[in-house]
Amino acid sequence: MTAKDPDCRAAIRARLQSRQLPLAHGHRLFRGQGDGALCACCDRFITTSEIQFDVECPEAGGPDGERERTRLSMHLQCFSAWVAESRLLADEAMAGKATQASGSGL
Ligand SMILES: [Zn+2]
Repeated sequence: MTAKDPDCRAAIRARLQSRQLPLAHGHRLFRGQGDGALCACCDRFITTSEIQFDVECPEAGGPDGERERTRLSMHLQCFSAWVAESRLLADEAMAGKATQASGSGL
């Protein structure tokens, strides 16, 4: 929440961890001019002078097998931060599993 954090990466990371944001995986991407939508990453409006990324994420396993898609709007820089933080979290999850597996195996 500081001006020195233009990418809002800490906020995005917290949202990924609390599952308010899905991990960047298997999404469809639309790029265009801002239309005043609320950014899913930083809670600021995307103005018409900015680039807006619309992301359609597959909803994680609905019970009825419905292919509901969540549509998120985000700033250009928020999108790249979201992708970067998603990768980091995925890597950490993999590393955590590997450590657990080798630890319990020995
Ligand atoms: Zn944003």
